[in-house]
Order: sequence, then C-alpha cells, then structure tokens
Amino acid sequence: MGIKKSRKGYTQVYTGNGKGKTTAAIGLAIRAAGAGLKVFIAQFIKMGDYSEIKALKRFSDLITVEQFGLGRFANRIPAPADIKAARKGLERVKSVLATDEYNIVIMEEANVAVKLGLFGVQDLLKIIINKPHDKELVITGRGASPRVIEIADLVTEMKPIKHYFQKGVPARVGIEK
Ligand code: ATP
Ligand code: MG
Repeated sequence: MGIKKSRKGYTQVYTGNGKGKTTAAIGLAIRAAGAGLKVFIAQFIKMGDYSEIKALKRFSDLITVEQFGLGRFANRIPAPADIKAARKGLERVKSVLATDEYNIVIMEEANVAVKLGLFGVQDLLKIIINKPHDKELVITGRGASPRVIEIADLVTEMKPIKHYFQKGVPARVGIEK
C-alpha cells in the first residue's frame, strides 16, 4: 500500500480531433485496475449507458463512473441545467481528490466542458494545481486550453489522418459508443 500511496502522480491530457481520447482513458483505467489501483471517472457532457460504462461495471470494486452531463451537445447552447450538472461534477472531483479512496481521477470530456463554458478554465486549472501529490489526473476532450496544456505533465494530441466519420459513418455501438 505504501508505494501506491506515496508514488508521485501526474496530470495527463488527451486532446485533439482524432479518435482515441476516451478509449485511451478507459484503457488506462483498465490497466490501473489490473494493478489494483482505484479509479474514479467523472464523465462530463455525456449521459447514457455507453458501452464502456456497461463494461466498467464489471470492475465496480476498482472503477467508479459517475456522469455529470445531460447529453451530447450538437451545436446546442448550454442551459442552466447543463452548467449545474457540470459544476456538480467539478465539486465531486474535488472531493474525490481530497480523499484517499482513489489513485486515479479521470475527467472525461472536461476540455469540452470548458470550451462550452460549463465551467471556467480557472476551475480546471485549480484542480490541476491543487491535485494531491500522489494522485494521477487524466483530462480528456477536444480543444484543451493552452493553459491546461502548459501546466499538464503529459499531453497527447490525437491527430486524425483519416476518419470514417468524414465519409458519413456515425458513431457505432461497441466501437465509438
Ligand atoms: P473514442 O471514444 O473512440 O476514443 P474520442 O474520445 O477521441 O473517441 P470524441 O471527441 O469524444 O472522440 O468524439 C466522439 C464522437 O464524435 C466520435 O465517436 C465520432 O462519431 C464523432 N465525430 C464528429 N466529428 C468527428 C471527427 N472529425 N473526427 C472524429 N470523430 C468525430
Ligand atoms: Mg471522447
């Protein structure tokens, strides 16, 4: 337990327009669970039983997923209810980080939440800055703020070389959702 608790944790960001941000975060959660680490996933924006959520339920002793979104935004303007849900998620992340219950906290689509104005970039920066030494924080979503990129320890940009979405292939169950 000692090593797991005192080991330094880093802030990782998966951003860019290519496929792989959410799957990378889920992959990390699975790997971590394999090592006996505990993972909290706060999913912003999204709502609903995505396949990854159903799958992760099998690891409920190690991985917890909570949703703080009311659904995908397709050019929709954020409503007060969207903002309220996202802020609730922020508070939950803060309290999870403040306890020793989880080793890794994943803020799914948090970059998008900032871009949509559901909460401010300052709110996200504060979470990164105040992150306890031993926690790993993972932030996903397109369009990461330059300031988030600057203070993160690891940033991966998923760069689309090709994507079948451009050919009209919508998100498929089990592959994209
Ligand atoms: P994955 O969940 O497969 O790892 P991701 O997290 O990197 O993907 P998101 O930015 O969350 O991808 O995109 C969610 C969905 O948006 C995709 O599944 C796809 O159907 C759709 N989409 C819209 N435009 C694009 C685009 N230009 N490139 C890729 N996906 C797109
Ligand atoms: Mg995603």
